[in-house]
Amino acid sequence: MILPIPIQKLIDAFSRLPGIGPKTASRLTFYLLNAPEDLSEGLSVALHELKANTADCPICYNVTSLGRAECEICASPERDPGLVCVVEEPLDVLAMERTGGFQGRYHVLRGALSPIEGIGPEDLTIRELIERVKSGGIRELILATNPSMEGTPPLCISSSSSM
Ligand SMILES: [Zn+2]
Repeated sequence: MILPIPIQKLIDAFSRLPGIGPKTASRLTFYLLNAPEDLSEGLSVALHELKANTADCPICYNVTSLGRAECEICASPERDPGLVCVVEEPLDVLAMERTGGFQGRYHVLRGALSPIEGIGPEDLTIRELIERVKSGGIRELILATNPSMEGTPPLCISSSSSM
């Protein structure tokens, strides 16, 4: 079946997302086609702003709103600056925050070492973490990376190099 180009384009775009196969992509596309205009417009604006209005926190590398000097967590006087949880991705910060039990701050590595995919220490924020520790004020690092082959090595490197 030959579909109109705008429909095929959206199906193809949805299909590139993780966990979405061609069937789900088609279902979402036809749902949006028949949904009220404000739903697709809201989605379109939110997608545009996602990239245009976000930035990396220069302290912890979590994602934050564009134009902020630091993220909401780094800026909060309620959060213990001496206690830092090291995670792989901003999504891990979200997961930790949902538990509501952690009152420290974070350091987001922005990935994990993967020689197979060509991701080395220089591709992650390990140097920035070392600098952060060297600059003082951190008394405890909690390593909360994934318990995978990729998740563990950065921590070994960061703790055995110059800390
Ligand atoms: Zn931050």
